[in-house]
Amino acid sequence: MSANREIPYKIYLEENEMPKQWYNVRADMKNKPAPLLNPATFEPMGYEDLRPVFCDDLIRQELDDVTPYIDIPQEILDFYKMYRPSPLVRAYCLEKKLDTPAKIYYKFEGNNTSGSHKLNSAIAQAYYAKKQGLKGVTTETGAGQWGTALSMACAYLGLDCQVYMVKCSYEQKPFRREVMRTYGATVTPSPSETTEVGRRILAEHPGTSGSLGCAISEAVEAATHQEGYRYVLGSVLNQVLLHQTVIGLETKTALDKYGIVPDLIIGCAGGGSNLGGLISPFMGEKLRGEKNYRIIAVEPASCPSFTRGKFAYDFCDTGMVCPLAKMYTLGSGFIPSASHAGGLRYHGMSPVLSQLYHDGLMEAVAVEQTEVFAAAEQFARVEGILPAPESSHAIKVAIDEAVRCRETGEEKTIVFGLTGTGYFDMYAYEKYNDGQMTDTIPTDADLEQGFAGLPHVPVR
Ligand SMILES: *Cc1c(COP(=O)(O)O)cnc(C)c1O
Repeated sequence: MSANREIPYKIYLEENEMPKQWYNVRADMKNKPAPLLNPATFEPMGYEDLRPVFCDDLIRQELDDVTPYIDIPQEILDFYKMYRPSPLVRAYCLEKKLDTPAKIYYKFEGNNTSGSHKLNSAIAQAYYAKKQGLKGVTTETGAGQWGTALSMACAYLGLDCQVYMVKCSYEQKPFRREVMRTYGATVTPSPSETTEVGRRILAEHPGTSGSLGCAISEAVEAATHQEGYRYVLGSVLNQVLLHQTVIGLETKTALDKYGIVPDLIIGCAGGGSNLGGLISPFMGEKLRGEKNYRIIAVEPASCPSFTRGKFAYDFCDTGMVCPLAKMYTLGSGFIPSASHAGGLRYHGMSPVLSQLYHDGLMEAVAVEQTEVFAAAEQFARVEGILPAPESSHAIKVAIDEAVRCRETGEEKTIVFGLTGTGYFDMYAYEKYNDGQMTDTIPTDADLEQGFAGLPHVPVR
């Protein structure tokens, strides 16, 4: 097709143009992500070691560093068709408003009831749990998007869904909780008295508002203490990145259709799943030496895993029951300030993205929440979509880059991931609108406290 063909506001794919396989970027990485380690013995964990916690097929995906393309089962493809393909939108109105020669595109993942990209992995994980004949799954949720997505997927497949929701979100976002319950999930505020680890954390930190790390520990305990249950996780893990590659594969197909080559790909990074999914096909080209792109991860200054963290083995959870992962981390004991981008409050980062970042294949920047909400507001007023606070981190940096283009006259093509909508974040928007939002940036001393809790893993 001609590169000059006029670009519509929304590039939609046909159903038959949707990807039928996920792309596993690890296959093209020279330096593979480091293996998960047993937290007691520091030995690498294999398939059998992980079986008590995770679903069998998902463990295979987790450990597979060599297969580049993995078939998406037909049942998952059928579910995807309910809300995919998602549009790639040309942000003409934003470009005009910014008076920039840059061309801005965003891949919008907020077009489903859960309001975010998390459904892409939720349906896959629920499918494999069902296929294994399990009764149900347990999980944690921070801001609530993952729990909502998983409860939707479980309702569709007839699986029980038990969600441990970080206490401050449980209280701040009662409607999220009710969406989950409407889809049939059980929702428990974490830390809770229902698990041993929850009781221990409560005793050590009375009155804590919780964290993802605590909720993960509780959900893992709940899975391993009930027959026919496994634990599922909405980010960080290799398998989650794999499922999220539908985002990047669709984006690439849509861009290719119009002969568009991005210069810059930007995404927010909590545990790294949407960013990993968006960039994987592009990173694959970069790793194979076919193309070059600038790739930028955007994280909150209140939880700066990439920009101020250490690349080290760490616990994935506060209770130290999960395998150790080598990643950029602030330490599993680090509890970030109660920021409004709940989905970005995790202490660690995807091992795949961590390795890529460590190898200089991508960049990272940290931004403060008031400037993020200013960008969200600017975006909402011209593009119409009310963005999730998490997604707005990517918007902020996309705008900054477009403004830079205005100054230099460069006609760069920017693609960013718009991961979701912010309808359940109106408390945060209210704070912003009332001028009461503040920025909390951890001091070096705060970070040192987190680093002090890193496990001492013997060099192998
Ligand atoms: C969970 C979430 C994120 C962050 O998670 P990643 O795994 O880093 O993608 C970003 N945006 C939204 C809307 C989310 O719900």
